Amino acid sequence: MNVSALSEWIFAYVSILLGGILFCVFYTEIRRRRFEPKGTDDNVFRCSECAYVYTDDPTVDRARCPQCSCMNDKFTF
Ligand SMILES: [Zn+2]
Repeated sequence: MNVSALSEWIFAYVSILLGGILFCVFYTEIRRRRFEPKGTDDNVFRCSECAYVYTDDPTVDRARCPQCSCMNDKFTF
């Protein structure tokens, strides 16, 4: 095996490696964009009785505390 053939193999190896890394980055980016809005859309509630923080569907304005069953308003940051 001569030197030019070896450098071609190294170039091919690096190209495949970079392609794999790029694929992983794109794949995780697509996954993150697909799942992220669902998590952030949830309303955050903070119980006025026991200070327990919990989340519920974005469609409800008031949610029951899972700790003490007290009704609480939506918590805004
Ligand atoms: Zn509570």
